[in-house]
Amino acid sequence: MDYDTIAAISTPMGEGAIAIVRLSGEEAISIADQLFRGIGGKKLADQSSHTIHYGHLVDPASGQTAEEVMVSVMKGPKTFTKEDVVEINCHGGIVSVNRVLQLVLKQGARLAEPGEFTKRAFLNGRIDLSQAEAVMDLIRAKSDKAMNIALGQMEGRLSKLIRRLRQEILEVLAHVEVNIDYPEYDDVEEMTHKMMEEKARFIREEIKKLLQTSQQGKILREGLSTAIVGRPNVGKSSLLNILAQENKAIVTDIPGTTRDVIEEYVNVRGVPLRLLDTAGIRETEDIVEQIGVERSRQVLKQADLILLVLNYSDQLTKEDEALFEAVKGMETIVIVNKTDLPQQIDLERVKELAKNHKLVTTSLLEDRGVDELEEAIASLFFTGSIEAKDVTYVSNSRHIALLNQALKAIEDVMIGVESDTPIDIVQIDLTRTWEFLGEIIGDSVHESLIDQLFSQFCLGK
Ligand code: GDP
Repeated sequence: MDYDTIAAISTPMGEGAIAIVRLSGEEAISIADQLFRGIGGKKLADQSSHTIHYGHLVDPASGQTAEEVMVSVMKGPKTFTKEDVVEINCHGGIVSVNRVLQLVLKQGARLAEPGEFTKRAFLNGRIDLSQAEAVMDLIRAKSDKAMNIALGQMEGRLSKLIRRLRQEILEVLAHVEVNIDYPEYDDVEEMTHKMMEEKARFIREEIKKLLQTSQQGKILREGLSTAIVGRPNVGKSSLLNILAQENKAIVTDIPGTTRDVIEEYVNVRGVPLRLLDTAGIRETEDIVEQIGVERSRQVLKQADLILLVLNYSDQLTKEDEALFEAVKGMETIVIVNKTDLPQQIDLERVKELAKNHKLVTTSLLEDRGVDELEEAIASLFFTGSIEAKDVTYVSNSRHIALLNQALKAIEDVMIGVESDTPIDIVQIDLTRTWEFLGEIIGDSVHESLIDQLFSQFCLGK
């Protein structure tokens, strides 16, 4: 399909050695040629694909030289969008890169909408929808593990799995058709029922397996919201600082990565924690002290993980006990801090209170016990097989929702088969399963959904 030629700044706004303006579409090369003055008057259109050329951009209206540039020429279909792509590398800085963008827009390119390059790659059949979403995840990845998920998904690992499942369903559906068209063959019907039951069970298990990874996948993608609670002066701020210092937030070197949101995340052995800030700590502190347990429970409810800090060199108080009450049933690690000071706390009582939680002793002042704490955090979320490298994680909420719908539909198929419902009725639920799975990779997705998804991208991607 032919679309108009789009252009955008593809590097982050701000200071940098170089910046890139990218064009994609039928006119990409001719638009660049109207501006480009290369050595010996060479034309970009005459150059072989995937080559880069030094020269200047000249404003045709004024005849003035605007920029010194390197221009890459990439002819479709072996490009990201499958269209002709030109990348103009110019000096970094907002002024020069904007000037280049204005020049190409004046020559007839249209400013790309957010995510439009990736959308074209999808529309031109270069990647499927789950891969396109992976590009977005990659840009936003907050930890190396999250990045690995996105990379796997971009390579099409999830798509491949989904395609295989859909193929299995299609085979059963074909069988059902035969069955309906040739009702005189009784043995075909019997076989269809049996096959339907077997396949439905298999597909249900596969979908369940995928959904099991989603909890971890979501955490890796979105971070684990973590509350540090405890009485005043037990060492909450110190803990926050140590975690933040020792675990530098991952900054990717992928072009287009925005760095602003990363600061609030710390990456503990591959688990991204979204820590409640110091203000949040003060808030929970006040709440525990003044408003009481009920309210603090409300605040704590929003956290996926709670770090409950106690003071080794102080006796347990009513407030400490109230905190234990408040975190009942929640994922909690109890930290007994200040072990460098003389013991005052009743450790037996602490062990009793913490019997459903992990317990770690630390001296944050002397940097002792921090390793054990990190180990405890990591092992809470990566147990057993889940950490295995070849697992396909599902981390995208849209995918999770669709998988849940597919699971429901396939369970309806099983109920139908078990209660001897006529096969052409059961077929309806099986077809629905097939459709829900299809939506994950973008078969049969509604156009407005596509627009919505792609508009979430960074501009220039
Ligand atoms: P918060 O009020 O719970 O945030 O506690 P802070 O982190 O502000 O710590 C209160 C005081 O305890 C500070 O003076 C810290 O330096 C000190 N502190 C924190 N951890 C330790 C520790 O392990 N041992 C000792 N001796 N002092 C600590």
